[in-house]
Amino acid sequence: MKEIKKFKRVLVANRGEIAIRIFRACQELGIRTVAIYSEEDKNSLFRTKADESYQIGKGKTPVGAYLAIDEIIDLARSKGVDAIHPGYGFLSENEEFAAACEDAGIEFIGPTHEMMDSLGDKIKSKIVAASVGVPTIPGVEKAIETEKEALEFAQKCGYPIMLKAAAGGGGRGMRIVRSEEDLIPEYRSAKSEAKKAFGIDDIFIEKYLEAPKHIEVQVLGDKYGNVVHLCERDCSIQRRHQKVVEFTPSLCLTEEKRNAICEDALKIARSVNYRSAGTVEFLLDKHGNHYFIEMNPRIQVEHTVTEMVTGIDIVQSQIYVAEGYPLDSKEVGIRSQKDIQMTGYAIQCRITTEDPANGFAPDTGTIELYRSASGYGIRLDGGNGFTGSVVSPYYDSLLVKSTAYARTFEGATQKAIRALRETEIKGVKTNVGFLLNVLNHPTFRAGECDTGFIEANPELLN
Ligand code: ADP
Repeated sequence: MKEIKKFKRVLVANRGEIAIRIFRACQELGIRTVAIYSEEDKNSLFRTKADESYQIGKGKTPVGAYLAIDEIIDLARSKGVDAIHPGYGFLSENEEFAAACEDAGIEFIGPTHEMMDSLGDKIKSKIVAASVGVPTIPGVEKAIETEKEALEFAQKCGYPIMLKAAAGGGGRGMRIVRSEEDLIPEYRSAKSEAKKAFGIDDIFIEKYLEAPKHIEVQVLGDKYGNVVHLCERDCSIQRRHQKVVEFTPSLCLTEEKRNAICEDALKIARSVNYRSAGTVEFLLDKHGNHYFIEMNPRIQVEHTVTEMVTGIDIVQSQIYVAEGYPLDSKEVGIRSQKDIQMTGYAIQCRITTEDPANGFAPDTGTIELYRSASGYGIRLDGGNGFTGSVVSPYYDSLLVKSTAYARTFEGATQKAIRALRETEIKGVKTNVGFLLNVLNHPTFRAGECDTGFIEANPELLN
């Protein structure tokens, strides 16, 4: 007998666009929503989109407020919350938080803390992948302990190499090293960046692939060991190892290659009986070989494109499986892997308050004018995009995600361009012009961008 526990109140331990995205999913399911917000977010739009909102983290830093595990759990308890959705970033990959929820009798909408433990760290997850026969990037599957070891491991691997933080995320704690003389300074700087960003400074080494493609697979599992994949996303268009434009399906995969990558993603997810939404990330080299790089045990920024082409609401599916529904229940509605079909093409552009001409430096200030796009085939997932809103320096610079959908890749591109042209933002610098340059570029039109695309085309920045 499957035990179903319907949620009445869900707290979202996050802010901005993803908090709003989750509130919407809850509201459509008749679940009451609870927001938390920091002092710096007291005028942010997301808190007004929840049924209730509470300030947390008094005396803490703007980011620290959203990391205050005890305070968040106490609040959830006192407000009769039965589940917490962590969104992405902040506590979403924090095993301690997932375990604290479990101890408090609150459902954590995500994988179990044991699953996070085996997959959340880049070194451990590579070991899991290798153990089920999934190719990984050649390297040393062990944290470097001394500078001498760094030199030895790098030599073993062969330059160029990539230094990576085991706990890394958002492209931080990562360094390309092309020759031995640069290794130690880069190692020290990666280590200190990792310590600052993640509190853990384990660094490992792997071979650096020249301009690969980034292909990732969305997976979804329930509490009964059923796991499906929702096909791939092409997230190769990146600046500073961070994604800016994502689309699906990828134009560079044969049907055979797509199946091989998706099957490998399933092997990894199945090996831990993965539950909830997760993403298995791969790099594809120039010869078409794919290598696992990491698994993200959470919802991702770019989940929207998958939703558009599969018709599956991933956030609602996360909530249903956390309530105990199997994937093939009428609520989740995924009878089998065969039931999942991609129709058409979707492209997401991350509109950020950054200045591309100045190294993508974040800009801040008051938005004096905000006119958003709309119309057939456009989906917007926004945080604080409105006239009069203040863009603060405390959080990430994502303003709104503009996702276009059409039957063809060309059609989706045209819609995405049309939406960007309709978007008018004054008062803060944005990357809208840069995104238009990307979408108009022949390499993008051919679906051939790799992770070196932006760097190789500096004219995109003007
Ligand atoms: P994060 O967790 O910080 O996002 P990932 O491991 O997902 O880091 O990698 C982010 C991006 O960095 C990849 O999409 C790719 O562009 C680049 N990258 C990571 N590892 C390698 C590698 N070994 N060789 C070349 N590029 C890499």
